[in-house]
Amino acid sequence: MIHVIPSVARDLGERVARRTRLVPPLRPGPSLTLGMTAVAALVALALWLRLGPLPPVPRDTSPIITDRRGVVLYEPLAANGTRSEWIAEVPENVARATIAAEDRRFERHFGLDPIAIGRAVMHDVRRLRAVEGGSTITQQVAKMMLANQPRTFAQKLREAVVALRLEHRYSKREILALYVNLAPYGEQTTGIVRASRRYFGCAPEELTVAQAAWLAALPQRPSTPRRALARQRVILARMNAPAEARAERLSFSRKAPPLLAPHFVQRVLAEHHAESRIVTSLDADLQREIQGIIAAHRANLLAHGAHSVAVAVLDNRSGQWLAYEGSGDYFGDEFGGAIDGVTTLRQPGSALKPFTYALAFEQGFTPATVLADVPQHFPTAEEGVVYTPRNYDGTYRGPLRARLALAGSENVPAVALLSKVGAPALLRLLRGAGFRDVDRTADYYGLGLTLGDAEVTLEQLVRAYAMFARGGVPVASSALRVANNGLSQLTSRDSQLVSRRTAFWITDILSDPSAREYIFGSGGSLDFPFPVAVKTGTSQAYRDNWTVGYTRAVTVGVWVGNFDRGELRHSSGVTGAGPIFHAVMLAADRTHAATIVDRPPDLEQQPVCALSGARPSMSCPTIESEWLPRDAPVEFCAWHHDGYVAWPSEYHEWAGARERPTAIGQRRTANRARLHITNPANEATYLIDPTLRHQYQALHLRANAEAKWMIDGQPVAREWPLAPGKHLVTAVDSRGRRDEVRITVR
Ligand SMILES: [Zn+2]
Repeated sequence: MIHVIPSVARDLGERVARRTRLVPPLRPGPSLTLGMTAVAALVALALWLRLGPLPPVPRDTSPIITDRRGVVLYEPLAANGTRSEWIAEVPENVARATIAAEDRRFERHFGLDPIAIGRAVMHDVRRLRAVEGGSTITQQVAKMMLANQPRTFAQKLREAVVALRLEHRYSKREILALYVNLAPYGEQTTGIVRASRRYFGCAPEELTVAQAAWLAALPQRPSTPRRALARQRVILARMNAPAEARAERLSFSRKAPPLLAPHFVQRVLAEHHAESRIVTSLDADLQREIQGIIAAHRANLLAHGAHSVAVAVLDNRSGQWLAYEGSGDYFGDEFGGAIDGVTTLRQPGSALKPFTYALAFEQGFTPATVLADVPQHFPTAEEGVVYTPRNYDGTYRGPLRARLALAGSENVPAVALLSKVGAPALLRLLRGAGFRDVDRTADYYGLGLTLGDAEVTLEQLVRAYAMFARGGVPVASSALRVANNGLSQLTSRDSQLVSRRTAFWITDILSDPSAREYIFGSGGSLDFPFPVAVKTGTSQAYRDNWTVGYTRAVTVGVWVGNFDRGELRHSSGVTGAGPIFHAVMLAADRTHAATIVDRPPDLEQQPVCALSGARPSMSCPTIESEWLPRDAPVEFCAWHHDGYVAWPSEYHEWAGARERPTAIGQRRTANRARLHITNPANEATYLIDPTLRHQYQALHLRANAEAKWMIDGQPVAREWPLAPGKHLVTAVDSRGRRDEVRITVR
């Protein structure tokens, strides 16, 4: 329908041209011919502007939206559908309120309002936000008839032309009726009939002045209905409403329509058009379970000053969304509940780190490559300014194998690594992985890029992590049950964004509980009874809190924060989003596959020195194993010698600053003399989560040596199911050494 106008214009142009050729006989002077041609063209243009074709009035075709098995997620408010919900006559209160809200000169202009346009241009010129937008009611009807195309200049011109024709074709009252029938009134409600019923439980003609004014405030910002009260006051003032109307307290109808996954439904309605029924990819059971999980964590979130939660679950094989929660409370207006947190840009914090490591692995680094976690300064794009990254806890841990550095999410080695592989290369990888809003230059972001200074959405994050779960192959996501299967197959043949080896390494590291234990402890919300690769992130000033992770089957992302960017309190990746992620993952993954990414055949487990990452010599005190290429050249550890460590130069200062270096690789030897309970920590408090199945809430008892375990003097297994109360945990090993800690379970 958009193409109608240009083709008519061409046709018209030809006709005008033909007519001018037919005029000749009198042979007047050339200027007169030109003048007549111009007049004819102007008349033709005016006629065409006023009389040309109109796009069809959009039928209200809100379809029923179901989950993947046919469970109804959303049903249009009127089951019987379309024009029966339209009004022909606009009730007086609604008419006056709408005109006062949108277009005060509506009765006097010809479809366009030069005064409003002038004012909007002035606002634009002074770089202020246009308050009234400059669009008349007629123009807005035109815009809705043209189905909300992108806001280009050409589109605005088309709208203006259609507005002129509407004014020619219809009376002012008819145009107003079109407007109130087509306008969005929030919460998926289109048209004044449904809106009146939805909010006030009555018909439009029964609305009071105050109610009509409140409804008239909605179409401008339909996503935040309950904030319309301030605008309602302005509208009442413009209407010169009587005092009793201004004093009226609105009481809203409590009957909310059945609506599951409202943010998702809203998105599907915006992106897909169908007459009657759309079968989406969503799993209604999982969605409900996630709503329950969020409700169960609500008090804890509020304690951290967080009002919003977004959760997205992607099926790794098909790329289909299985669950999608945008804010945790769609109808909670105080904190922007209708905003879709899945598609909102936020700083991801450490959640982008795996991509820096993936890039390094692509360039020849391995998980055994040692990175320096020591005070370092890096040059920036600004001359004379250096960048000095810090770790979360302010300490430096000396040499760290890449496996430990990534799993423990240390900042300094990640920045050091990025300085080696290059920010431009990382930008290319991030964009390839679908972070399309990371669109500035490498100089703009600098090395902070790996610490999450660029903004991403939860949706992008989940899709990008699914790429690792799929062995390095990106997937196109879909909200429908079937539609783009072809597309995702296409991408799966096409593009290996990173090698399978890199995807395996990243996955193996992120699913290695012992590698992250030195930072995150164990037995917490990042540990699962089946392999889960998981990463947390916290943005600057604790505004955003993320946990993203995947199994073979699904990728789950959780964001916790505030849409007004208010800061969180005492929240890290583990305390805010972590517990919700844990519960969602347990609910979402029903397959419990033993491997996430299959190991490439050319990798084999090889011994490495825990400190230097090289092949161990006779002097190396602690030996770990790492998946390394079978044919990699063997290099023996040159750091360990009998009785001392020959530190490479970059560690001299760090090693000298501490009496006895306790790098990760040496911790075990340092504690050898006594039995030491490593989990749980002394005086730890555990909360029993009512939403989780009991068997998933065991406490993992661990010590630095094999030990027998007792709780309150009674022998127990190493996996102890939590029981409420205060408990004494005792470990005794075969040599009679013992250690005790006290814990509380609530
Ligand atoms: Zn060594």
